[in-house]
Order: sequence, then C-alpha cells, then structure tokens
Amino acid sequence: MIAVAIDGPAGAGKSTIARAAARKLGFLYIDTGALYRSIGLAVLRAGKDPGREADVLGCLPEISLSLRHENGVQQVYLNGENVSEEIRLPEISKASSQVSAFPAVREFLLERQREIARSSNVIMDGRDIGTVVLPFADVKIFLTASPEERARRRYLELKEKGGSDSYEEVLQAVRERDYQDSHRAAAPLRQAQDAVLADTTGFTLEESAALILRLIEEKMKGAAGKDGEGERT
Ligand code: C5P
Repeated sequence: MIAVAIDGPAGAGKSTIARAAARKLGFLYIDTGALYRSIGLAVLRAGKDPGREADVLGCLPEISLSLRHENGVQQVYLNGENVSEEIRLPEISKASSQVSAFPAVREFLLERQREIARSSNVIMDGRDIGTVVLPFADVKIFLTASPEERARRRYLELKEKGGSDSYEEVLQAVRERDYQDSHRAAAPLRQAQDAVLADTTGFTLEESAALILRLIEEKMKGAAGKDGEGERT
C-alpha cells in the first residue's frame, strides 16, 4: 500500500489539493479533520464544553464515527447520521481544534486512521499524519501559505456559501487555530523532518495542485528507483 501524508495549517488548501491528487492517482482521499470536527459537533450537540477535558471525555463513549466514500467523495457519519455539511460551520472549526488538543481524543482516532491506510492506497490530510499517524508514509508534504492568504481563501469560500464573517474575523480565527494547533502538547502541528515543504502563497489552487501532484509523482518514482536498485544487488 502507498501512503501520502499531507499536513499543514488550516486553510492551506490541503483538502482541495489532496482530493484532486487522489483522483488523479486513483488513491482514496482521507480528510482526517472531519473526524475531529465530528467529535466537536457531538460535544456541542450534547450541550457540553469542547474546551473542558472532562466534558469531552464523557462524550467519547457515545460517539460512533465512520467514513464512507460515496461517488468518490468522503462522507462522515456520526452515530449513523451524515454530518458532512454541518461540520463545516465556523463554530465547529473552533470546537474541533479544542477537542483535538486532548490526548484521549487523538488516541480514540489513531487506530481508525491507521486501519484505513492499511487497506488502501491513501492520501491522508491532517496535522499529524506524517509525524504520528503514518510516520512511515511513502511521501510526506507539509503544505502551507501565509495566514493572510489562507484567511483570504477561507473568507471567499465562506462568502460563497452565504457566510457573513468579515475578512478580519476569518483572519483572527485562522491565527487562533494556528496557535492552538501548534502549541498543544499532544501531537502539535509541525513539519515532519522528512517532509517536503510546499509554500503555496501566491499560487492559485490549480498551480498548488499541480505542484503537489508533481512532488508525489517524483517521490514515488524515486522510491521505485531505489527498490529497483535494491533488487539488482
Ligand atoms: O483540517 P480541518 O481544519 O478540518 O481540521 C479541524 C481541526 O481538527 C484542526 O483545527 C485541528 O485542530 C484538528 N485536527 C488535528 N489533527 C488532524 C486533523 C485535524 O488535530 N490530523
């Protein structure tokens, strides 16, 4: 099985880019953020505080999550209900970032993510895929862009969906999530030592997607070449 890990901060375009690359390569695309978002949603629905560890831990036994691919698109089910749309709301972004800081939440999702990578060729995107979930991934990419650029992209995306948040509000939320994701003790957002850094500031989505696809193909070719050499000796 081949595993590609794509990590990076919120709004770097990971999901769009990873999805496009997965389609080209015929790999399964796994958006791990959807799992953390679903836990955030479950906690909020239970009327609990996503920032309080005891509240979150109390909810975990009631949570059953599954990822399904329908027409090639990942759908996430929370206790049998498709919540793929609802988890995209801005309040869920914040809640997901809060719950993801608790080690028990990360532990709850770890084996589930590894299991998927054992059974399919995957492109998995998240924050800790190259560092924790799939440390032996064949290709690791750390995808980033400046906070302003990421906020601009997210702002336009939200606006298109009818959202009313201003650019400043979106930028503030991006900065807060960056801080929270990279300063937590459990599996903080950081570039794996062996990951390739891809900074897409100033790139269009199409250019970014082409860059990532090229990086993956080059890495896979390199790995195949090495295997070949090994067989000859
Ligand atoms: O990628 P997305 O923005 O949907 O992720 C939502 C939140 O889930 C992130 O802010 C991050 O805190 C958390 N997350 C994580 N580890 C992952 C994927 C997401 O901690 N592998």
